[in-house]
Amino acid sequence: MIFRLQRKHLTIALSKKKRNKESQALLYLLIFLAGMAVGVLAFFIVNIQKTLPSTVLTKEVREPVKRVQRPEIKQMLLTPNEFSRPQLELRQVNGVVVHYVANPGTSAKDNRNYFEGLKDSGATYASSNYIVGLKGEIIQCVPLDEMAYCSNERNEDTVSIECCHPDETGQFNDNTYQSLVHLTAWLCGRYNLTMDKVIRHYDVTGKNCPKYFVEHEEAWTKFRLDVEAYISKHAIDNEAATTKQEQQ
Ligand SMILES: [Zn+2]
Repeated sequence: MIFRLQRKHLTIALSKKKRNKESQALLYLLIFLAGMAVGVLAFFIVNIQKTLPSTVLTKEVREPVKRVQRPEIKQMLLTPNEFSRPQLELRQVNGVVVHYVANPGTSAKDNRNYFEGLKDSGATYASSNYIVGLKGEIIQCVPLDEMAYCSNERNEDTVSIECCHPDETGQFNDNTYQSLVHLTAWLCGRYNLTMDKVIRHYDVTGKNCPKYFVEHEEAWTKFRLDVEAYISKHAIDNEAATTKQEQQ
């Protein structure tokens, strides 16, 4: 009997020892697996950051586009009418579209009056938010919270700028160019648009507009760099910008 009991005790003790060993092994296995999981996760995070285009990452943490002073703008708003100022609400602005008037030597006012005349002639549907003239003057035809008929399917989410030009090449003179740079820079700050959101009519429909910037890709690249440089050079603090930029 005693012998039997002792044997029983021995068996219990032995199986306890075995169980302890098993749970210890399980613990080691868990620690090992957790270590592996952390390693794999770290590997993926590092590699995803390496392979993703930088824009995808910077988009989330991108700094707001700095604001510049509003340029001098002459408001000569069109009379509301279905052909050039339909008064459709422009709910969001995701870009700025640059155009050329395709009528050499004409002034900003001439082009503004052409848009105005459409209310009577009904010849076509056309207008733009702004026109930049040969002397660098800027005329506004359509308020910024209204759609202009200028950029086809992007009418509903962009602001349009028509530019005058002295000749058939469509190249802007220096006055027009400088005002266009300033106006575009101001709009980028106002709507927090990066340079990739500054586009040509050509980028929407493939139309040869603005002619010079379509036929001279390097001039188009330079223009966007000039806008960026203008913003860096003339940035003003946010408070000053918001008090001065409320005008349409
Ligand atoms: Zn155009």
